[in-house]
Amino acid sequence: MNHVRVRFAPSPSGYLHIGGVRTALFNWLFARQQQGVFILRIEDTDQSRSTDDSIKAILDGMKWVGLDWDEGPFRQTERMNIYREHAIALFNKGDAYWCVCKAEELEARRREAEQKGLSPRYDGRCRSLGITSPPADAALRFKAPQEGQTVIDDLIKGTVVFDNGVLDDLIILRSNGYPTYNFSVVVDDALMNITHVVRGDDHLTNTPRQVPIFSALGFPVPRFGHLPMILGSDKARLSKRHGATSIMAYRDMGYLPEAVVNYLVRLGWSHGDQEMFTRQELIEKFSWDHVQKSAAVFNPEKLTWMNAEYIKSSPPDHIVEPLLPLLEAEGLGNELRNVSREWLIQLVLLVRERAKTLVEMVDWVRPYFGLEVSYNKEAAGKFLTPAISDALDKLTARFEAVSVFDKVQWEESFKQFVAEQGMKMGQLAQPVRVALTGRTASPGLFEVMEVLGRERTLLRLRKGIDRARQT
Ligand code: GLU
Repeated sequence: MNHVRVRFAPSPSGYLHIGGVRTALFNWLFARQQQGVFILRIEDTDQSRSTDDSIKAILDGMKWVGLDWDEGPFRQTERMNIYREHAIALFNKGDAYWCVCKAEELEARRREAEQKGLSPRYDGRCRSLGITSPPADAALRFKAPQEGQTVIDDLIKGTVVFDNGVLDDLIILRSNGYPTYNFSVVVDDALMNITHVVRGDDHLTNTPRQVPIFSALGFPVPRFGHLPMILGSDKARLSKRHGATSIMAYRDMGYLPEAVVNYLVRLGWSHGDQEMFTRQELIEKFSWDHVQKSAAVFNPEKLTWMNAEYIKSSPPDHIVEPLLPLLEAEGLGNELRNVSREWLIQLVLLVRERAKTLVEMVDWVRPYFGLEVSYNKEAAGKFLTPAISDALDKLTARFEAVSVFDKVQWEESFKQFVAEQGMKMGQLAQPVRVALTGRTASPGLFEVMEVLGRERTLLRLRKGIDRARQT
């Protein structure tokens, strides 16, 4: 009976904003928890911004974070007749009237009112004119209640009371035949049987305008919930100048969707002091009671920390998948065709403790592709020197004498060799590291060798010795 139906209703703006994703997520979690229905509705009546690319960006973003919808995507531009019909129905019932005030007149009257210290709202001039055959450029206005109060029992903010005296008769159908946001949103929420309207609290002041329209249309008023905004570290509303706000930018920067979702949910919702949640846990534990009432501050460091946690703890196969296109983009397409999935998993396991993002991971795994390695100049200059070449040569000969690679055995021979030579571990470990990876930082040497395999390890050591002798 009381079947939950919620919606996410983005206006296309070129990309899907992470704040929008958080709104979508809360709606989605609630729908999934209540075995309700999650609807996607594209509010594309602002034609200048609503391109197909813009809409695709929303759908791609939703898919990337795994927010599947049960109905839609609806597009408001495909429902124009529905809005017009309902607007006319309101007129026929006497709940709306034609307004012939010109934009310039309205502007002049608004300014005059402001100068007199009065409210700049529409003065209701056409309310009593009773226009029945409107000129082509007339707009339709809703007769807003002028007395009493509109009380909203907000899921997040609690009771919010609005004085109807401040409401003006808002336009529901513009002179160009387009519905306004406040009208189309109500028609859709009503016809789509939305039970809970949950959106950003930038819409809170629209709610008392929308509530009487539901009633006038003869539909029940849904529950409302207004989510506090997401702010940047300077407490201004999160925008591009605080860093990336497009959800897909996070994919491109090497974030995992699970990490982004977990971070965004925690941004404004809590369950004790638990930080990490599986999707299933979120569905089970989510509740409006624990959505924070005040604005949340976006913290990119925490998001990165969370991403690193997910990289470390996800099944490696799950990391390989999104890593592949990044490796491909790095020009490793050919190499990728010569390696097995198992080897890629091994590679991920080798470096995953070190990479906070998949983009960092690409850099960490780069040296393990190809036969030879390209040296960091400084590293090679410092560690692949004539002075070390003989020791490297002898060590390599020892490794060559062991016919199969065995991590424990090779490590033993290495230690033994270092002791015999009266060297310190680091004296030889660094040159070996540079010979194998081209760099001075890498995971454990013998893990590196294991991933490279015996032949490539020996080849790279030999190349390293050549290089050391040349300098
Ligand atoms: N289309 C509106 C927006 O993107 C949302 C409307 C709503 O959720 O009621 O801000």
